[in-house]
Amino acid sequence: MIVKQIWTANAYRNFNYLIACPETGEALAVDPLDHEKCLKVAKEAGWRITQIVNTHEHNDHIGGNGPLVQETGASILAHASARNRIPGMDRGLQAGDVIKVGKTVELEAMDTPGHTMSHVCLRSHTDQPALFSGDTLFNAGAGNCHNGGHPAELYKTFSEQLAKLPGSTRIYPGHDYVENNLRFTLDREPDNARAAGMLGKLKGQDPGRAYVTTLDEEREINTFFRLTNPSVIARLREAFPALPREPDAKTVFLKLRELRNKW
Ligand SMILES: [Zn+2]
Repeated sequence: MIVKQIWTANAYRNFNYLIACPETGEALAVDPLDHEKCLKVAKEAGWRITQIVNTHEHNDHIGGNGPLVQETGASILAHASARNRIPGMDRGLQAGDVIKVGKTVELEAMDTPGHTMSHVCLRSHTDQPALFSGDTLFNAGAGNCHNGGHPAELYKTFSEQLAKLPGSTRIYPGHDYVENNLRFTLDREPDNARAAGMLGKLKGQDPGRAYVTTLDEEREINTFFRLTNPSVIARLREAFPALPREPDAKTVFLKLRELRNKW
């Protein structure tokens, strides 16, 4: 499996992806908003884009479908219940569905509601696993829920699905928000040396050659995976004085999500 992360350099800071089979040159495009850049990268590598996966229905993820289909004839795959919101959808995905790319690549669809209620993540069945996480999990952060999402569902997705993936899983999100997210982590947890070190390393990085985190790293630097950390809870209590003495993880997650919206 070859992964190309494509930096769109747009105002929303979108990442698009090509996932290719090295044997056949077939490629799958994830959220190819910048269809021209995706086509250019595919052409240079000698790949044919045969499938598009939209992680969810927002315009900055599906906006490149039309022209890319016109150019390549690729089929469009997305969450089964996004069918009436994504024009021209060919295949509806459900949890556990396998998407084959060429001969060597298998991607498994995960049903990951929260950012929207029809959001899929893709995980690869490779030696070093990869997760294409759309707007559910960002490097050092979590997706918002204010355009058709639900924070309680996002918590469930994090705790019941994402947190259980192998620590070596490489995280490929739909946007480059890592710098802001690390600042939020440090605002919540000023003594987080790993997050401070990561911010020092990634500050001002070229998103065209972005650092790719693993899930193990996310557990250290992503406040949404650090729900039982005493510093996180103590700082949260400053914002929410009525927080119980030993708040459960879900309460902490929801309050963090609420704070992040205003931050
Ligand atoms: Zn979105």
